[in-house]
Order: sequence, then C-alpha cells, then structure tokens
Amino acid sequence: MNLILFGPPAAGKGTQAKRLVEQRRMVQLSTGDMLRAAIASGSELGKRVSGIMERGELVSDDIVIALIEERLPETEAAGGAIFDGFPRTLAQAQALDEMLKRRGKKIDMVVRLKVDDDALLQRIAGRFAESGRPDDNPDSFKVRLGAYNGQTAPLLPYYQGQGKLVELDGMGTIDQVAASIDGALDGVKA
Ligand code: AMP
Repeated sequence: MNLILFGPPAAGKGTQAKRLVEQRRMVQLSTGDMLRAAIASGSELGKRVSGIMERGELVSDDIVIALIEERLPETEAAGGAIFDGFPRTLAQAQALDEMLKRRGKKIDMVVRLKVDDDALLQRIAGRFAESGRPDDNPDSFKVRLGAYNGQTAPLLPYYQGQGKLVELDGMGTIDQVAASIDGALDGVKA
C-alpha cells in the first residue's frame, strides 16, 4: 500500500504518518525531514537548501525526487510508503508515478486532510512557540501556504482524475482524523 498524505502545512500530515508507521509497518517518507537532516549534517545539499527552506519556498524538483527515489526500496521491504510533503508539484507527481511504475508499483490512495485557514493559523501559532523550526514564523508560513495554494493544491485534479483522491475532514482531534484515515485505508486493497 502506497499512500500520499496531502494537505497544507500544519494540517497534521506528519502526526498521522507517524501513527501509521507504528500501526501498519509502513515507512514515512517526509522530504521535509530528509532536507532538515541534510541541513543538520552540514552536507553540501543542506547548505544549498537551508536558505530556501527558511524562507518557506520550495526546493527544486530534482533534489526531492532524488531523495525519494533513494528510499523506495526500503518501503517495498516494509508495508509500503506514506509520502508526507511529497509530491508538491506536478513534475514531482509525474516523476513519482514513473519511478513507481518502473518498479511495478503505484500510488494506491491520496488522502487529503481538509483544514480551514483559521484552524491552520491557530495550529501554527502554537507551533511557532515550541517547534524551533526556522520556517515556523509568520512570514515564512505565509510563503509556505502560498506555495501550497499555488503549486501543490493544483495536484488535486491530477489525483482525482486517477480516481485515487479521498477527502477527509482534518479538523477533528488526532484520534478522529486517525479513525477516518483508517476507514479509508481499510476500504482499499493494496
Ligand atoms: P515540510 O516539513 O514538509 O513542511 O517541508 C519543509 C520545507 O522543506 C518546505 O517548506 C520546502 O522548503 C521544503 N520541502 C519539503 N518537501 C518538499 C518538496 N516535496 N518539494 C519542494 N520543497 C520541499
């Protein structure tokens, strides 16, 4: 089972992905986490992306596509992948489909967590105080939301056209959202 968790920043994708890792033996592939690890390690890649991420802009498609491709084998050895924060552009979505196809795999389901803008702003305001992430501040968050609306939300028709899109209310408690995701996953055969 390969699942994309889709939604704006602070929609709860990371929280739900971590739960699925524990409960379903799946592997979380978060390009944001991979890029933050590259920055923390002081690598060349980290140096290239740190300013871009701090401002809340998207890093280039080639970089994140390569990061994902490297990790696909381990997802196949487990119960599948949860793509969290990837794909974020049409080029990334098409590359993902091609990479999976070459391996005889596919995306099974795209779960969109719908959260309204006011709730998002409340969540992120709480996170600003505690996260320590340099892009969790009002200016960068505005840019991140703009990138989502401008470059990522247009992927929804792409996945709807493939018949893979499931839209869920992301406004409930963590447990309520988890229960809706479980309901959607249990309705699909991997
Ligand atoms: P996230 O942890 O998913 O919120 O990602 C944090 C930041 O990493 C984003 O604001 C982007 O700068 C960068 N990033 C993560 N994933 C991607 C992606 N798929 N495409 C482009 N940039 C990304």
